[in-house]
Amino acid sequence: AKRNPLSRGIQIFSAKLSANSLKNLALETALREAIKQADIDLFYQPIVDLETGALVGAEALARWFHPELGNIPPLEFVTLAERSKLIFSLGNFILEKACLQIHLWQQDHLITPGDFILHVNISAQQICHEDFEDWIKDILQRTEISAQNLMLEITESSVAEDIDQQLLKLLDELKSMGVQLSIDDFGTGYSSLSYLQRLPVNSLKIDRSFIHQINLAGDNRQVAQATIALAHSFGLEVVAEGIEEESQLYWLRQLGCDMGQGYYFSKPLSAADMTEFLRCHGSASQTR
Ligand code: C2E
Ligand code: MG
Ligand code: MG
Ligand code: MG
Repeated sequence: AKRNPLSRGIQIFSAKLSANSLKNLALETALREAIKQADIDLFYQPIVDLETGALVGAEALARWFHPELGNIPPLEFVTLAERSKLIFSLGNFILEKACLQIHLWQQDHLITPGDFILHVNISAQQICHEDFEDWIKDILQRTEISAQNLMLEITESSVAEDIDQQLLKLLDELKSMGVQLSIDDFGTGYSSLSYLQRLPVNSLKIDRSFIHQINLAGDNRQVAQATIALAHSFGLEVVAEGIEEESQLYWLRQLGCDMGQGYYFSKPLSAADMTEFLRCHGSASQTR
């Protein structure tokens, strides 16, 4: 008898699919539980002024340690959360935790409003939710922090895809509250800078892929160079991510990049280690 290759293919495919969806379902259940149990952690990666070397802020990066699977990369569980509506509870949990940390650092006089900015990554779905403004207001109120210590990072694609009036209104509202905005992973999307100029943002983050090659010969420097020059002409500050080597820092300084973060300065730190880092390198420690 002749085998039907098509039906055989389908069988294999659907077996694989259900194994995958089972795995995803289990992971989704575990993530929901982790959020409920406040089991998601935040690490903090220092951001420095490239000219003076002063500590100017940090980026909060989510960490999830699964009891059996170990560390799950944030891109993986954030994507999972985005597919399953968990992104709203996860996102609010992260925002609140980050703001509580700001509160603690303010209380300990390790930071003062405006001299240290904590960057928090926000997913496109979060910022597009009609209640997002209320959530932010609520969290700021409950944690009693100054909005000047908070910067939201949104990816280029999340704002480039639909720049509708509602989003513009929200971004304006955030700005008037004192919350700053940064476009993350800049250069990986398709938007032009002149288009982004219409958005009330404060800074751009050049994606790691462009920093990685900045110290190599040839035209590898051009994207970073053009981004920095154009961003400055629009009055935006530029943060470079993923600085690993001194030669990369050298070139970024040559090009006039304002701020940077990366393993060259520090890996993402636990809350306790970041607090220690602030004690040693914080602006408050320098003026005292
Ligand atoms: P991102 O926002 O672009 O964050 C920068 C990523 O680069 C982080 O990876 C950081 O650990 C890594 N990194 C920093 N310096 C270096 C370096 O010198 N070399 C290299 N190779 N990597 C460096 P991480 O923590 O794995 O996060 C990956 C992505 O997951 C983030 O990219 C962000 O898109 C997302 N993410 C992380 N935390 C959150 C969160 O709380 N909410 C949301 N919505 N997304 C998050
Ligand atoms: Mg980021
Ligand atoms: Mg980034
Ligand atoms: Mg990136």
